[in-house]
Formats: sequence, C-alpha cells, structure tokens
Amino acid sequence: MGGWARAVVSACLVGIPVSAALFFKYFDSESAPELISSDATKFWVEALSRQETEVKTAKAEAEQKLSALTLRVAELQGRLMRLDALGERITSMANLDKGEFNFSDPPAVGGPELSIEEVDYSPPDFRLVLNNLETQIQDRQQQLETLEELLANRKLLDDVFVAGRPIKKGWMSSRYGRRSDPFSGRVAWHAGVDFAGREGADIVAVASGVVTWADHRNGYGTLVEINHGNGFKTRYGHCKDSLVKVGDVVKKGQVIALMGTSGRSTGPHVHFEVYKNGRTVDPSAYIHRTSR
Ligand SMILES: [Zn+2]
Repeated sequence: MGGWARAVVSACLVGIPVSAALFFKYFDSESAPELISSDATKFWVEALSRQETEVKTAKAEAEQKLSALTLRVAELQGRLMRLDALGERITSMANLDKGEFNFSDPPAVGGPELSIEEVDYSPPDFRLVLNNLETQIQDRQQQLETLEELLANRKLLDDVFVAGRPIKKGWMSSRYGRRSDPFSGRVAWHAGVDFAGREGADIVAVASGVVTWADHRNGYGTLVEINHGNGFKTRYGHCKDSLVKVGDVVKKGQVIALMGTSGRSTGPHVHFEVYKNGRTVDPSAYIHRTSR
C-alpha cells in the first residue's frame, strides 16, 4: 500500500465512526447513551437504584397487606368466639339438649360429598383460612337462627296454652255441668262457667289465638269465640260489647270484650266455655293450671 492509500484507509477507519457518532449525537441526542461512557454508567446505576426502590416498596406493601389480613383473621376469630359463647348461653338458658346444639361442631347438613381428588388442591393460605372462617360463621348463624325459631315457637306454645281466668275482677258464680236452669228451674247442662262482675268490666283472652266469632249468637247474646289451635277454642258470652272482629289475632291477656248481660242472662257476667276437639270441657281445669 502506498502512502496515499494508507492515508485514505486511516481516514476511513477513524473519520467515519467519528463523523457517524457526531451525526447520531446531533440527530438523535435523546437515544440511549453508548455503553462504556460515564453517562451510561450513571444511567444503569440510576436504573438499578430505581428498581431497588420499587422492590422495597412492593415488599413494604406486601407486608402491610399481610398484617391487614392477619388483623382481619384475628377479628373474625374473635367474632366467632363471641358467637359460640352466645350460642352456648342461649342453649343453657333455653334448657335445650346440648347434643342438639353443639357449637363446636358444624350443623348436620346434606348435599353431595366431593372426594379430595375432585377438589382442586391448593396449599393452605390466608384465603383458605378466611374461607373456613366464613363457613364457620355461616354455620353458627344458621344454628342461632334455628335456636331463635325454636325459642319463638316455645313462646307461642306458652301463649296458646289455655290457662287462667277470662276476667281481671269478679267471682265464679256458676260451675260447669249439671245445674238447675236459672230461667226454667229445670235441671240442665251448663256447658261453661260463669264469672259475675261489674257491667263493662274487661273480658280477656285466656290464650293467644284468632277470633272466629264476634257477634250475637242465640242464647249467648254477644259472643266472642277464639280459636287457639291444637284443637282448643274458647267462648265468652253475654258481652256488653265486643272489642274484636272475626279474623283478629289476639294475644293472651288482651281485652277482647266488655262484661254485660246480653242474651239469656240474669245479670252482668261472662259465660266462659272451653272446647277441646269440638266438645266442651270443664274450664276450671284450665283456669287453675299454670304450666304445661
Ligand atoms: Zn253460663
């Protein structure tokens, strides 16, 4: 190679990259810097520290979420314990069979059983713990609702239990059974008991029920009849006024009528009858009973 050729080659080897670099630097100053420059080193250091910060933030966030979850689990466990305690208290209060409501076991329920193979296996994690807790809480809720229903029914049974007197003030003036008729003087059957009192005195329902008659009825004068279910009915005759109407739901002890002397009566009194499965029975047995 001659001197000229050598000069041209050198110019190409040195000049072209330099001019190319200058060219790119001029036209594309925003592009990523070349490797092995101080700028590049700075760039990568910055990128690394940025990533480090991101990792730290992510880790802190994860820890925060974890402690929030732990707190939530602890809260749920606390609530469950309180529910269990409440359930046990109610069970003992209601004198219910402990075996029937064992609050440490889930209630007996039906449904197809899935074998372990059919269920997706996932390692125990917070979601699993939370799901278990949720199921337990639902179980307890169901148990408590059943208990509530049972207690409500028991209260209802107590209330429809025919017992006590149909008046607040007054005295028994005639017993149930054979007696001489106050009008004819002949021996007749008295299908109820009479309570004498002041005209306009309160007549109360001896048990909860539904009013099935509230009107004049031959012989009875103004009559109120209440159906208590379980085959029981009560009748309150010779009223001055009925304070209820057919279809009304009345509570035990509710004032349903005012004492009078309507119908076949010789003075202010209530003629009180108790029906059991369609036949009158001696009301005195029901008047004096206090518990089932
Ligand atoms: Zn009577």
